[in-house]
Amino acid sequence: MNDSYQTIIIGGGLSGLVVAHKLKLHNPGHRFAILEKGERTGGVIATHSDQGYISERGPHGFLDNCEESRQILTETGLHLESVKAPLIDFVRYVRLNNKLNLIPQTPGKILLAPLIPWQAKLRVLAELWQPFLEGEPTVAKWVDHRFGPALLPYLDAVYTGTYAGDFDRLTVDSVMPGLRALEKKYGSVLRGLLVSLMDKRKSGADKTPLKMPAMTSFAKGMQRLPEKLAEHLAAEHELFLNTTVTGVHPLQNGWLVESSRGHCRSKNVVFAVPVNSALQLLAKLDPNIPETSIPSSWIATVVFGFKESVKLPPGFGFLAPEKEQRFTLGALFTSNMFPGRAPAGHIVFETLIGGRRHPERLELNDGTLASMAFEDVREILDLPRQPAYTKVLHTVGGIPQLERNYPRLLAWREKFLDARRGLHICGFGWDGIGLNDMMKHATRVSESILNDTGTPRPGAELKGIYF
Ligand SMILES: Cc1cc2nc3c(=O)[nH]c(=O)nc-3n(C[C@H](O)[C@H](O)[C@H](O)COP(=O)(O)OP(=O)(O)OC[C@H]3O[C@@H](n4cnc5c(N)ncnc54)[C@H](O)[C@@H]3O)c2cc1C
Repeated sequence: MNDSYQTIIIGGGLSGLVVAHKLKLHNPGHRFAILEKGERTGGVIATHSDQGYISERGPHGFLDNCEESRQILTETGLHLESVKAPLIDFVRYVRLNNKLNLIPQTPGKILLAPLIPWQAKLRVLAELWQPFLEGEPTVAKWVDHRFGPALLPYLDAVYTGTYAGDFDRLTVDSVMPGLRALEKKYGSVLRGLLVSLMDKRKSGADKTPLKMPAMTSFAKGMQRLPEKLAEHLAAEHELFLNTTVTGVHPLQNGWLVESSRGHCRSKNVVFAVPVNSALQLLAKLDPNIPETSIPSSWIATVVFGFKESVKLPPGFGFLAPEKEQRFTLGALFTSNMFPGRAPAGHIVFETLIGGRRHPERLELNDGTLASMAFEDVREILDLPRQPAYTKVLHTVGGIPQLERNYPRLLAWREKFLDARRGLHICGFGWDGIGLNDMMKHATRVSESILNDTGTPRPGAELKGIYF
C-alpha cells in the first residue's frame, strides 16, 4: 500500500465500487484505493450457483427507473447483459386468508380494484382532510391515520418485501420522507401528489407518460454487477482485499487511515460501508454521535427446484403480511422472472424466512428451516411431496432498519460532514437501502470528490411504491 492517496474508499461493496468506477472513468490519474475487509468484492450481493440452479443470498434485482444506475450499466457495458422482468407484465400476490390474492402494482391501482370495499375507498379519499400527524409515527400508524386500515396489509407486504422489516417499527419520516414532506407542505399526501403532478406537466419538465419500470438482473445473477465494476481495478494497487479499516484520524491536510495493513494518508476518505460499520468508525471521530448502532434484519432463503411439470402461478411471487402468521415471509418465482436459473427441464423458486419480526427462526437448523418452509408454501402452491433440489442460503449482511431516531442520525451526519472537509459517507442504510439508492448516492459522492465540493443534499425524495 502507498503512503498517500487522493481518495481512500472504505468498503468494496456496490457503493465503494461505484465510487471507484466513477473516479477512474472521469479522472484516470486520480490516485485511489478501496480497502475491503472481506476476501471478495460485492458485499451483500452474492449469487449462489449450484447444479445449474442460480439463486441469490442478497438482492435479486433493481428497478430500471434510476438514471444513475442506467448510466453505470451503459458505462460498463452491462446493459448488454441485463435481463429484465417488466412490472407491467408480472403480477404479484399477497397471501391473505391463506389464498394468493392478485394485486395491482401500485397503491393507486389497488384503490381502484375490487379488493377494497367502497366504504374503505371513501376513507382513503378522506385523507385530504386528515390533520398532520405530529411526532415520529411508524409507517403503520401513519398509514392508518391518513388512509384508514384498508391499505395496511398491502403496506405490510411492501415493507416485508423491501426491508424484511416491521412497519410497526419503521418510521414514515425515515422510509417515506418524500410523502411526509408532501403531507407537511400541502396538508395532504393526495393533494400534494396532485399539485406536484400538475406543476410538472405545466412546466413541461416531464412530458413522458408514466411508465412502469422493470426488475433488472443479469443472466448469471446479481454478482455480475460488482464483478464487472471490479474487473479493471488493479489488485494490491487500487483494490486491497482482506484489509479492515480500524480508524480514521484527522491530519492538518487530510486524513490518516488506519487498517490491518498499516497506515496511509488521504485527502478524501469515503465511508462506503453499512450504517453500523460506519458508526463504529465514526464514533471514534465524534463522541457526540447520537447512535452507535441501529437495528438490522436478517433473512434466510430456501431455494426449491422441481421438474418443469410443476407449474407456478404466473408472476413475480407473493408476500405474506404478519397478521397471516405464516412461516415464510413470501416467495419469489425465480424461473418466471428470470428464465435460465434452473437446469434444463426444471424450475426454481425461492422462499424468504426471518426478517425483523422473526429472527428466532434463523436459529433453526437448515433441515428444519427447509422442511418448515416447504410445508408452508405447499399449502398454497400445487407442489409434489418432494422437491428435486433444496438449498438453504444465509445472507452475508443484515438490512439496516430505518426506525425511530434515524432522522436524527441523518441530521447529525450533515453537521458532522460540514465540519470535516474530505470526509464522505454513503453506503447501505445511509440514503435508503436499495441498489438504486446506493448507485445514486455513490455517484454523487464521486462527483463531489472530482469537483472538490461537499456532497450535495437533495432533500426528501419522492419514490414510487411498487409491490
Ligand atoms: C438479503 C438482502 C436482500 C436484498 N434485496 C435487494 C433487492 O432485491 N433489491 C435492491 O435494490 N436491494 C436489495 N438489497 C439491498 C442491497 O443489496 C444494498 O443496498 C447494497 O448491496 C449495499 O451495498 P453497499 O456497498 O453499500 O454495502 P455492502 O454490500 O454491505 O458492502 C459494504 C462492504 O464494506 C466492507 N466493510 C465493512 N466494514 C469495513 C471495514 N471496517 N473495513 C473495510 N471494509 C469494510 C464489507 O465487508 C462489505 O464488503 C438487499 C440486501 C440484502 C441484505
